[in-house]
Amino acid sequence: MSTNFPLSKDELASVAEKFPTPFYLYDEKAIRENMRYFKKAFSIFPAFREYYAVKACPNPYILKILAEEGCGTDCSSLPELMLSKAAGLKGDFVMFTSNETPAEEYQYAAQEGDIINLDDVTHIDYLKKALGSLPETICFRYNPGPLKEGGNAIIGKPEEAKYGCTREQLIEAYATCKAEGVKHFGLHTMVASNELNPDFFVDTARIIFELVLEIQTKCGVNIEFVDLGGGIGIPYKPGQKPVDLDYVARGIRALYDKMIVPAGLDPLRICFECGRPITGPYGWLVTKAIHEKHIYREYIGVDACMADLMRPGMYGAYHEVTVSGKENAPADHVYDVVGSLCENCDKFAVQRSLPKIDIGDLVIIHDAGAHGRAMGFNYNGKLRAGELLLRTDGSIKEIRRRETIDDLFATLDMSGVAAFK
Ligand SMILES: *Cc1c(COP(=O)(O)O)cnc(C)c1O
Repeated sequence: MSTNFPLSKDELASVAEKFPTPFYLYDEKAIRENMRYFKKAFSIFPAFREYYAVKACPNPYILKILAEEGCGTDCSSLPELMLSKAAGLKGDFVMFTSNETPAEEYQYAAQEGDIINLDDVTHIDYLKKALGSLPETICFRYNPGPLKEGGNAIIGKPEEAKYGCTREQLIEAYATCKAEGVKHFGLHTMVASNELNPDFFVDTARIIFELVLEIQTKCGVNIEFVDLGGGIGIPYKPGQKPVDLDYVARGIRALYDKMIVPAGLDPLRICFECGRPITGPYGWLVTKAIHEKHIYREYIGVDACMADLMRPGMYGAYHEVTVSGKENAPADHVYDVVGSLCENCDKFAVQRSLPKIDIGDLVIIHDAGAHGRAMGFNYNGKLRAGELLLRTDGSIKEIRRRETIDDLFATLDMSGVAAFK
């Protein structure tokens, strides 16, 4: 079940008076408490670190809150590295897990001392050319291919996914880097997305630990950290259960004791780079019902659209929808709740049983705190929503203003076009 929205009808109405809808709202207290639970579950390891996936919610205020809770960040582009720096993170608190990366981005990461996670063996030479020499620490991304069942519409099956190296390539890669004088090594994989089965993550750890031992035997390289990626799902739909992190941690710990400790590799740092389960349930898109339409179906038109939250349109993803002040009203109407994009997939809810919605009602779209605002776009000239933070003291801070038409036109030459013949 999705998390309860933190504001009453009156509280939300007064926020919406100051900050016109649509907007994203994040709950700082809930994010901090959730992060503490996450860290506590994995505190049974000698060294654990969560690298928050910046792409899930690329706002420096959110990153700073998570940094205060002991997180690093996982980045896939130069702007994400820069946002991490703005939040005060650098060095081994920043993991650069990119693919098809331009040289300048590696140069920036190396200059900041960030951990570079290479997606392919051929990138060793590329990195060496870009930097002049290899960094002291290197990590590689593993793609287990058909060895690992899984994958879905978001990430694809491992053997069809473009990411990472094969097992054979990795053996060669670590041997090469060792010969080149690299001193510290990590191993990374990311094979799932929005997975709710806790055994999936224990199984991934087993595959990674086996590989850690093989690399030790074949290359004489002791891996110092393993990054098990993101992919921990959240219960978007009613009736789904969150992943039991204590169960996952205990399962991985048993493998650690059986495989890692006897090989003399303890302490091996265990890392995750989750985005979705960290902020996903604690962010909401708040929008207003502005139209109703009665044709072959009943439609409610809201002032947000797919350009603000793409997941329902793109993946057919389910997001819980509630109506502010009508949480306990009977769900005796069936609606399609739709946005204004000229695309028929622009529907936040399809044939959903909801209470009667009146024009002016504030409609809350749940579980939008990860891969929400971040995946927004400007198609159809849509201006993306801003972001508000509900502070632990109950105050509201605007942490990103909504876009303006000037923002949208900033890359266009509007005065030049008048003289253009
Ligand atoms: C997207 C991504 C993540 C975060 O995934 P979540 O589902 O948000 O936890 C982590 N690592 C990599 C490499 C990714 O591409």
